[in-house]
Amino acid sequence: YPFPIYFILLIITIPRLISTVGKTEQWKFTTKNSNISQKLINDPKAIELASSDYGNLVHEFPAAVFQPSTVNDIVSLVKLSYNSSVPFLIAARGQGHSTRGQAMARDGVVVDMKGLRRLKNNNKNNEHNNKNVGIEVFEDPKVGFGYYVDVGGEQLWIDVLYETLEYGLAPVSWTDYLYLTIGGTLSNAGISGQTFRYGPQITSVHQLDVVTGKGEFVTCSKQNNSELFNGVLGGLGQFGIITRARIALEPAPKRVKWVRLLYSDFSVFTKDQERLISMKGNKNSALDYLEGMVLMNQGPINNWRSSFFPLTDHHRILSLVTQHTVLYCLEIAKYYDYHSENNVNKEIQVLLQGLNYIPGFHYEKNVSFVEFLNRVRSGELKLQSQGLWDVPHPWLNMFIPKSRILDFNLGVFKKIIQKRNITTGPVLVYPMNRNKWDNEMSATIPDDEEDIFYAVGFLHSSGFDNWKAFDAQNKEILQFCNHAKINYKLYLPHYSTQEEWTNHFGPKKWKTFLQRKNEFDPRMILSPGQRIFNNN
Ligand code: FAD
Repeated sequence: YPFPIYFILLIITIPRLISTVGKTEQWKFTTKNSNISQKLINDPKAIELASSDYGNLVHEFPAAVFQPSTVNDIVSLVKLSYNSSVPFLIAARGQGHSTRGQAMARDGVVVDMKGLRRLKNNNKNNEHNNKNVGIEVFEDPKVGFGYYVDVGGEQLWIDVLYETLEYGLAPVSWTDYLYLTIGGTLSNAGISGQTFRYGPQITSVHQLDVVTGKGEFVTCSKQNNSELFNGVLGGLGQFGIITRARIALEPAPKRVKWVRLLYSDFSVFTKDQERLISMKGNKNSALDYLEGMVLMNQGPINNWRSSFFPLTDHHRILSLVTQHTVLYCLEIAKYYDYHSENNVNKEIQVLLQGLNYIPGFHYEKNVSFVEFLNRVRSGELKLQSQGLWDVPHPWLNMFIPKSRILDFNLGVFKKIIQKRNITTGPVLVYPMNRNKWDNEMSATIPDDEEDIFYAVGFLHSSGFDNWKAFDAQNKEILQFCNHAKINYKLYLPHYSTQEEWTNHFGPKKWKTFLQRKNEFDPRMILSPGQRIFNNN
């Protein structure tokens, strides 16, 4: 082999060999595997990329980056580690859009999933033929008119959108931002304004192909290998690497009516939100999307998440914010096709008549389906051009029970945030229906029995020298919740002790999580950056 490959393999194995003097089996085994050793690289640029993420707060250096060109390569890599006397750590990296090093592997191997990315399968000779698929749309014979897409875990949601639209179809559940991978969002949950109606992205999945921590390639679903299927969905990368997901599709609409309404009273705002997501009746008249934002003195009216309010109204809105210190913005959307524009206009009108926003503070846009779903991209490109996309992002995302959301408003939006006066970036607050989540899956939501809970997201951007102030604010928010006994859960969680993780999952779910870990990744190889089982 070329010298650099030996060098990389030595870097991976030496620390482990030192701790296991005499056990040379791993080294022999490692060097024998020529096929994959050529795909292990350690050039400084690749290592640096794999040691940073969107958060820009945690930096863990891997020994090597693995660039697979087939699913078999991933199988070989994981087997190699699993069968070694001392296994090495492996983290799949999608887009690295985590904020706390979740896709990193200190002294281990980061699998750069991007290597597998292509739109259509062009590798029919692969052993897992037709399963390393890129993106392919199928008619589902079992469901009559149903359709699904088979999509590689490495693919981006934006590419899934464009590809499925070619067939007039699209998935129903989204994230706000589409340049994330299927594997990355399914390892968390995948939430947005569609979740109240269609569930998180993990609930639209019919089937998965997974490479487990033993290096086994397994196809799983609710019917077959259901422990693996339920474990992987929301499983923070702990049980296997997702190489294919089968995702349900529906006919795609052409246009979207997009509305924002301003409120000064939080209880009126949340009452309207809850009423809208609980509306029964005609499926076609229900909303397709609902979110909400907090507007404060500290932040601009428009931000990278979407530029919506007309410039001519900025002054008017800002004076209202100054008057009330905090405003709340309800955001809703309804899909339609060209022929149904009149109907949708009437439905929105009726809907608005029943809402209690501040009169005169009602804004509407009429956009294409793609423009709506991809609404964050233009903000991203603008920030990138100003060098402001790669700054630190000390984010905090939480789920809050409905019964405590008013207390949260008083203690956090009205007190902590006002006192510290540092918030920059969007602050989201929107409700979702519990019955759209599947409790058998690993994703974790508040334990109580309430029908609704809220997603709250502080999507901060900070400078390199002041991110700790945001982190301190995040800690104060969590302390407030703990003292007030608000039974919250973190979304995109990050903890560093097993006690905290046990609390996060709760005793029952943690027991299942442990059992699944022992079954599918008993040597604790996968996704060490989550710090659940590898927290040194
Ligand atoms: P990575 O950061 O690369 O990986 C995340 C975790 O998943 C790691 O532990 C990794 O090892 C594991 N992993 C990655 N690929 C695989 C795989 N194929 N199989 C198994 N495990 C894997 N989230 C929402 O729910 N809704 C939103 O609206 C939303 N908006 C966002 C907007 C922005 C600008 C950003 C930066 C993030 C947003 N997120 C949102 C969070 C995002 O969904 C998560 O951070 C997600 O993990 C990012 O996907 P990724 O491909 O970058 O994953």
